[in-house]
Amino acid sequence: MERRSRRGDPAAKVHLKLYLTNLAMQQTASIARSCDAVESSIRSMPELPEVETTRRGITPHATGARVRVMRVYDSRLRWPVPADLPARIAGRRIDRVDRRSKYLLFRLGEDTLLIHLGMTGSLRAFRDLPPRVAHDHVDLELDSGVTLRYHDPRRFGAILWVTGAAEGHPLLAALGPEPFDAAFDADHFWRKTRSRSAAIKLALMDNHLVVGVGNIYANEALFRAGIRPTIAARRLSRPRLARLVMEVRATLTDAIAKGGSTLRDYVDSAGEPGYFQLEYFVYGREGEPCRICGARIKTVRLGGRATSYCPTCQR
Ligand SMILES: [Zn+2]
Repeated sequence: MERRSRRGDPAAKVHLKLYLTNLAMQQTASIARSCDAVESSIRSMPELPEVETTRRGITPHATGARVRVMRVYDSRLRWPVPADLPARIAGRRIDRVDRRSKYLLFRLGEDTLLIHLGMTGSLRAFRDLPPRVAHDHVDLELDSGVTLRYHDPRRFGAILWVTGAAEGHPLLAALGPEPFDAAFDADHFWRKTRSRSAAIKLALMDNHLVVGVGNIYANEALFRAGIRPTIAARRLSRPRLARLVMEVRATLTDAIAKGGSTLRDYVDSAGEPGYFQLEYFVYGREGEPCRICGARIKTVRLGGRATSYCPTCQR
């Protein structure tokens, strides 16, 4: 991973892709297990709204700023932080910070710093940098006077350097449309699910179909759409899928709005920035009464993940 400079070399790209695929396969099982453990313990795994809130929080301090120095205290993230990254990035100007799925993309001229928060990562902004605590792995000191500090207890996140267009990077190239893109609509959803006997919740969490709908918001959007998570995707009519598309957007919009209300304190804030809790309808509420009808919320496992629904409201 550290030698991304061979960007024109197709063999290197294929090699990298295989490397990433193998790593992903090895790690998927343990990640699924760890995800539920993390969710049940802290319930704050960064999903799309948290990443978007982080992006909005750091944008005013990062855009137009130059990197003074990058300090890597521990490079052992999901993939190692490239050893030559501090040298490459020093003095470079951050043109803007974008988001694709759950990746933060720092655009520096032609190149991109790609950051993923994994399961427990956070990127905080400090004007007065406090002493490092455990799991503070990387500091990115900017000439705006702000330092971005990457903190990640489980180290499933990633900090990578992409030479050239980031969209072609193996981690991003195969991603489906963003939930707010016009390309994610009922027709797209309907076409992509006609041959799927898998449960609709698994389809919704499939990054090839739509990105950034993680376990929490898949559970919540399905509740709001009145769709049982276990139903085969291909059995859903176009109008029901249209409703689901709408509810996915509404659920994420609500969460992003909630995150936005925390932005005032983004710099030098004491808590975990971008982390917030909605009043969930079903997520994490097994055995509790449905907020709409009072029936007990049921939990089953789908694809290894906790899946909660109301047996009355969701059909
Ligand atoms: Zn109900």
